[in-house]
Amino acid sequence: MRAVVTGGAGFLGSHLCDLLIERGWDVVCFDNLVTGSEENVAHLSGHARFRMVRQDVTRPMAVDGSLDAVFHLASPASPVDYLRLPIETLEVGSLGTRNTLELAQAKGARYLLASTSECYGDPEISPQTETYWGHVNPIGPRSVYDEAKRFSEALTMAYHRARSLDTRIVRIFNTYGPRMRLNDGRVLPNFVYQALRGEPLSVYGDGKQTRSFCYVSDLIDGIYRLWERGKHEPVNIGNPREMTILEFAQMVLEYTGSKAGIVFHPLPVDDPKRRCPDITRARELLGWEPKVSLEEGLPLTVEFFRRAGAS
Ligand code: UDP
Repeated sequence: MRAVVTGGAGFLGSHLCDLLIERGWDVVCFDNLVTGSEENVAHLSGHARFRMVRQDVTRPMAVDGSLDAVFHLASPASPVDYLRLPIETLEVGSLGTRNTLELAQAKGARYLLASTSECYGDPEISPQTETYWGHVNPIGPRSVYDEAKRFSEALTMAYHRARSLDTRIVRIFNTYGPRMRLNDGRVLPNFVYQALRGEPLSVYGDGKQTRSFCYVSDLIDGIYRLWERGKHEPVNIGNPREMTILEFAQMVLEYTGSKAGIVFHPLPVDDPKRRCPDITRARELLGWEPKVSLEEGLPLTVEFFRRAGAS
């Protein structure tokens, strides 16, 4: 089996490359390293079944030989990153999705789009089911990511319906684990970094907004199952254990032994108040559910950040 993984040098992409290599696949990784890092795939360089192509996927992609799968994961995904790279984010969601769909079509490969819980925006229902259409501000600062991903879902469904392409859409909820960038601005790297340096944790707003955190190995297992036995309808992959950001901050303080406490900052514009996946579809269709609890995954991630020099 042979796959293209776009964003293959990113946090999730590099873990997907690892899983595919482990299962005997040939992998061609595309990444322009705008938010990814060669370090994430350094252990694969020189591997006979792995190739890295440093390229922006908004430009046409040429791949020799046959392909069984195209996994399109390339995109800035942290709010800090996509607010810094608004045009690039819209382009990789639109032009990048089109190029990768064309590639899959030309090769007769199955296509998997990495979409997001941000498609639900600031949701009016919780937990979020795949049938919920979402509540997105189309001109707010977050729209560069939300609308890019909603467009990429629409384009994927159009290739499925009009061109009979075999497609999958995964809606990824907040995921954490080793290889997250220390400075990507998301809540977990921020809190762990601050705790390890003895700084107070920066809680935005009153901290009563909720998130649900999924460990990376569970997420990648869900993506692979979706590729193997899913269908074209979107599937939420995430951990349904919901907590407030304040509760999460307390947990990080406890697991790092930090006594530095918490400091409150203003809430970013359009920050979703609740987020929790309904994973009934993943359970029924894929036999998937998360296995790694936050109590297990958080210390593994703290250890990674310690080694990466956060303290
Ligand atoms: N957040 C926070 N402190 C930080 C970074 C984020 O309180 O240093 C909050 C943020 O406002 C949001 C939640 O944590 O409510 C998750 O933010 P993140 O950037 O990780 O991703 P999001 O889920 O918003 O895409």
